Amino acid sequence: MDEIRPPTVNDIGGAAKSDTDSQQHSDERWMRHALMLADKAEQAGEIPVGAVLVKDDQVIGEGWNMSICQHDPSAHAEMLAVRQGAKQLQNYRLLDTTLYVTLEPCAMCAGLLVHSRIRRLVFGAYDAKTGAVGSVMDLVQHPVLNHQLQVTAGVLADECGAKLSEFFRKRRQQHKQQKEQAALLKSQTAGK
Ligand SMILES: [Zn+2]
Repeated sequence: MDEIRPPTVNDIGGAAKSDTDSQQHSDERWMRHALMLADKAEQAGEIPVGAVLVKDDQVIGEGWNMSICQHDPSAHAEMLAVRQGAKQLQNYRLLDTTLYVTLEPCAMCAGLLVHSRIRRLVFGAYDAKTGAVGSVMDLVQHPVLNHQLQVTAGVLADECGAKLSEFFRKRRQQHKQQKEQAALLKSQTAGK
């Protein structure tokens, strides 16, 4: 019985699975790039969030948090990556691009992604307090708005989340030490 059989559901499933595997591989690769950019924010004392904008598997924009050092509340990683990408493309529409960011975007950045017509968003850790891609609201797939992004959430979420938790843990420790030193200094001065 050497009949040539038509492809079964399993065969088709196998092909789809390998496509999914290669996309997952590529998503993780770009997320590692975004994590490397988050390190630059941390080195500057900023909350470690990094973003990279990709078109045809090439970087067209990079950003990391600079709000504190630039005295600019809009200087989020996504904002800076998108601005750089738009300059690179010489276009205010960023069609057929994917933005990778280590943390779920806030409402400001989610709004920016819709305006930019970015095709796809991939993010790492969820932000339960200010995330605008499902956590507290969903702006990037809002049916009333004129553009919806494809979304992949939770890529390298543990690594992205751990980087943030570690940053905040260290910062709390520093604040505590500063308070203790200030209290010690005050008691020494009072004793004189
Ligand atoms: Zn933001």
